[in-house]
Amino acid sequence: MKRGRDLAELLAQVLAGKKPPSLAALLAARPGMRPEEALRMTLDAVEARRKLLDADDDRFGRCDICGADLGLAALGEIPWADRCAAHQAQ
Ligand SMILES: [Zn+2]
Repeated sequence: MKRGRDLAELLAQVLAGKKPPSLAALLAARPGMRPEEALRMTLDAVEARRKLLDADDDRFGRCDICGADLGLAALGEIPWADRCAAHQAQ
């Protein structure tokens, strides 16, 4: 299952601090939140997604609403993503 391996590698890099999430992207996604709060919440979200991956749960990397595959490119930008573009506002 190549997709799972790629995602696991991506998350491992984020958790190891080798590929820190973009602070600008974090703050844009969480308006009104202090940078350290946004970062903490994001790392918690990444950790939660990693647990899905560890459990071989196919929901990781998919939209919570419609199940669309978010794609590795998008997950590279925002590894904690859980909604597709169409459902982000909901
Ligand atoms: Zn969706």
